[in-house]
Amino acid sequence: MMKGETMYSTQKQGRVAIDRRSLLGASAALAVGGMLGLAGCSSSPKTDEGSVPDEGSASSGEVAWDEEADVVVVGSGTGAFSALAAADAGAGSVVVLEKSEAWGGTSAVSGCTLYIPMLTVGMEEGSDDSVQAATAYLNKVAGNRGNKAGIDNYVKYANEFATWLGDLMGWQWTAQGMFRDYYEPYEGYRFFGRNASIDSEEKVPMWSELQNKCKELGVDIRLSAPAKELVTDASGAVVGVVAEIGGKPVRIKANTCVVMATGGYDHNPQMILENQAVPVYVSNAAMTNTGDGQIMGAKVGAAWGNMDTNWGLPCFYGGSPEYTGELVYDFLTNDWGYYRGSAGAIVVNRQGRRFGDESSAYGVFNRAFGQYDTDILDYTNIPAFFICDDEYVSTMTLPGQAAVGDPLPDYFVQADTLQELAGKLGIDPEGLVDEVASFNEGAAVGEDPTFHRGEKECNVVISAWRTAGRDLPNPVLAPLATPPFYGAVYVPGTCGTNGGLVTDENARVLTAAHEPIPGLLAVGNCSAGIFGGQYPGAGATLGAGGIMGYIGVRNALGTL
Ligand SMILES: Cc1cc2nc3c(=O)[nH]c(=O)nc-3n(C[C@H](O)[C@H](O)[C@H](O)COP(=O)(O)OP(=O)(O)OC[C@H]3O[C@@H](n4cnc5c(N)ncnc54)[C@H](O)[C@@H]3O)c2cc1C
Repeated sequence: MMKGETMYSTQKQGRVAIDRRSLLGASAALAVGGMLGLAGCSSSPKTDEGSVPDEGSASSGEVAWDEEADVVVVGSGTGAFSALAAADAGAGSVVVLEKSEAWGGTSAVSGCTLYIPMLTVGMEEGSDDSVQAATAYLNKVAGNRGNKAGIDNYVKYANEFATWLGDLMGWQWTAQGMFRDYYEPYEGYRFFGRNASIDSEEKVPMWSELQNKCKELGVDIRLSAPAKELVTDASGAVVGVVAEIGGKPVRIKANTCVVMATGGYDHNPQMILENQAVPVYVSNAAMTNTGDGQIMGAKVGAAWGNMDTNWGLPCFYGGSPEYTGELVYDFLTNDWGYYRGSAGAIVVNRQGRRFGDESSAYGVFNRAFGQYDTDILDYTNIPAFFICDDEYVSTMTLPGQAAVGDPLPDYFVQADTLQELAGKLGIDPEGLVDEVASFNEGAAVGEDPTFHRGEKECNVVISAWRTAGRDLPNPVLAPLATPPFYGAVYVPGTCGTNGGLVTDENARVLTAAHEPIPGLLAVGNCSAGIFGGQYPGAGATLGAGGIMGYIGVRNALGTL
């Protein structure tokens, strides 16, 4: 980078920028479905080409069904749990429709941790968790938007779900994961015991194993088979779904229910722009997550909730901070906490000022981007800037580096002084110099009087492991004192939007009048979720998808 140039003009490296046209094409396909007659297929005759000329009102009696099943699950991420729960609970036939040619969506590439209050192994290893503690904690995090009855059911069935799943899959659970409850010291917070991962020497490919088990139990898996429309009967109940398989519409009757599990709307720029409250630049959610379930549900009368939130995940960024709603899809630059929270790094805004405890969990820190500046009439902390010194770079990796000493991606800027670094990144130099001096004073003695970094055990466990070899008074604090200095643009990101179809405590989709739409369930990121759009602790997104699916299909099948 040339002197005087700012980061905003640099190009991305090693990342996939989204092609707006192809994304819009995905959304448009839904509309085309309607033109093909898929939307109002109820009154339309089946044709070989799937071209159904007249669009009528929904009425299952007039649909020429191609297939039928007891339960149809749309989406194979957390939807896999619903499919297994249905098959194992005695559903006669279960179909999974998956839009992508690959199984598992975002879930398949996740850390596979599940949030399980009162997890048996956690309790055996000393956790003092309880219904009261877990309920109090989850309600406090979820706040006014939380689904209280849903949280009650989550806490009630979580360990039953984990036990059932472990027995079915032959998995042993461990409660020893790195990530924990994120809101210390809320009432009911627990440092240990709620975060279940598979206990194995080797990394178990959770979603491949789920797929194999589905096949073993006779679940009919259709890949490259996007659902296009829900079919309702004259009463408004959902009675089936139309999928596009092999380029043709296939009408599948659902005798018990349709479970929508289509993920978030991360890669639908229009929905992102219209719904997210605070700009979000990067998402690691599957590219096929374009809000299909939210749209299909709305078409049959479902209400939307929590559409303005997401599972926050701050990210390094090499693109323009001009906000377009087109989220970069990027696994390399996300920062679960390892980078910003490690000793010797801070995150500052354009004024050079820190704005939070950098060791906070990803979802918590991401919320700090949302502050608005009434003077500049823009977000105070967007874009922000990751700053570290040479001691950091000489001892720990940054994104894009396999090992210390590997070349840094070109969105990192290097300078001999903080003033020079500030100039290159577009930060107020005096503000940055002043802030680092103040931070260094506290860090030298292991204290952060401003944001109390290093005082919460849950944050320290996320961020301290990389500095284990250094002799520091506090493992997440060290002065930024060794030139050269390094910096990069740092922005709000997500591992998935989490707003969508409003559901009750049994995952039944509700109308705006809070009346269930018979035959329709929703789980995972296409639902409004029960946690009010907030991230209580590690595994809460997969946990909610799995547990609410388990509850939902068993309730629908009468086996709960
Ligand atoms: C690297 C990483 C690590 C993570 N680690 C964890 C963790 O350890 N624990 C945790 O709780 N969360 C974790 N998360 C978050 C978690 O992965 C997601 O929140 C979760 O997977 C969302 O599940 P989902 O079923 O809603 O969506 P997805 O898993 O994305 O599944 C949605 C599926 O629906 C399909 N689909 C979309 N539209 C249609 C349609 N019209 N018809 C048919 N199918 C359709 C998509 O192709 C996709 O396969 C992580 C995320 C990332 C990126």
